[in-house]
Amino acid sequence: MDTLVRTENLIMTESPFNYADHLGPKSIHHFYEPATGLKAILVVDNVAAGPAIGGCRMAPDVTLDECFRLARAMTLKNASAGLPHGGAKSVIMANPEDEANKEQLIRAFAQMIGPIEDYIVGPDMGTNETAMGWIKDEIGRAVGLPPEIGGIPLDEIGATAFGVVIAAEVAQEFGGPKLEGARVAMQGFGAVGKHAARFFAQKGAVLVAAADIQGMVYDPDGLDVARLVEIKNRGGSVIEYEGGEKLDRDTIIAVDCDIWVPAARPDVIREDNEQVVKAKLIVQGANIGVTEGAERMLHDRGVICIPDFISNAGGVICGAVEYAGGTESQAFEVIEEKTRANVAEVLGRAARENILPREAAVKMAEERVAGAMRLGRWK
Ligand code: NAD
Repeated sequence: MDTLVRTENLIMTESPFNYADHLGPKSIHHFYEPATGLKAILVVDNVAAGPAIGGCRMAPDVTLDECFRLARAMTLKNASAGLPHGGAKSVIMANPEDEANKEQLIRAFAQMIGPIEDYIVGPDMGTNETAMGWIKDEIGRAVGLPPEIGGIPLDEIGATAFGVVIAAEVAQEFGGPKLEGARVAMQGFGAVGKHAARFFAQKGAVLVAAADIQGMVYDPDGLDVARLVEIKNRGGSVIEYEGGEKLDRDTIIAVDCDIWVPAARPDVIREDNEQVVKAKLIVQGANIGVTEGAERMLHDRGVICIPDFISNAGGVICGAVEYAGGTESQAFEVIEEKTRANVAEVLGRAARENILPREAAVKMAEERVAGAMRLGRWK
């Protein structure tokens, strides 16, 4: 158990070594810069396969614990994607809406991480390609860059969403619903959700429900994806869609559908609400959209749940292609190739060994990290 030191305004674990296990973390950094007020944490979890790629999250309430968990998730995600990169994550404790200070904070953060050469930063919640452009300008390395400086705009092209839909397609071979005519519910209609809806429609699936932070629109006969995307692109909400039924946003969990896609927040399907899920396949765009306990319960009643770090690796794969100097069309090719192989391996192994897809995915990823660690001297 961690020993906690508490004062009125401070709660900190006494030893960051409490996180140490067979994979990492290699290093944990706390940064404070008085002139800008920058407070940030970086966890470099594992670099056996190569310099670690991981996003930088900006939010007022991010913690070391969250940063470590996200860094570990990146180690597993990058290893399972077969990228020549380890895992890391950074967090900046600040309000991302405070545009007046954002550039200064990001540039100060860049200077802090500059000497830590085994960390390559990418965008995450609260940061974007412009922020990555500032970091590249300061220290010469970042991924998820603006196109003007060689970036592949991964959110604009729907890199993660593309992988999500490929994952659903592969699941067909393992008892998942046929995409042609499948009814899809999409929770979250941002960078991942709206593009996933578009790619699903291209495969002949029908979007029956879409939710964003303001509410949900439902039509069992199918929603017009292009119209929804148009509404979102001009800053509107899915509830402005003409037609369909407008319902409370959380009712989407119980919608009658074949495929359910979390593409918004973590922990939306949990042990206490998984019973209402009617879908036969859950393919995760969001990180930790389904809790581990709920994944087990869903599995026990025959619902296929593809682990988040297998189905939503498209963004980081795109970042790695960009870092290696590749193009947008190469990024799509690599996302498809890697996602197909990984989903097939994970679902195949889960069936053969009678284990959860998540257990199969973690085993596969850990074997790959261990293999890379054996090749190095001190990793
Ligand atoms: P985004 O900010 O572009 O979109 C988020 C969407 O979710 C918005 O439509 C928002 O209105 C909606 N939303 C927020 N809270 C909601 C709620 N309680 N109920 C319903 N809808 C809600 O974010 P994004 O980039 O699309 O990311 C979505 C999720 O996918 C996040 O969990 C993110 O960590 C994860 N993810 C994103 C990428 C990527 O490439 N963008 C890669 C891997 C994982």
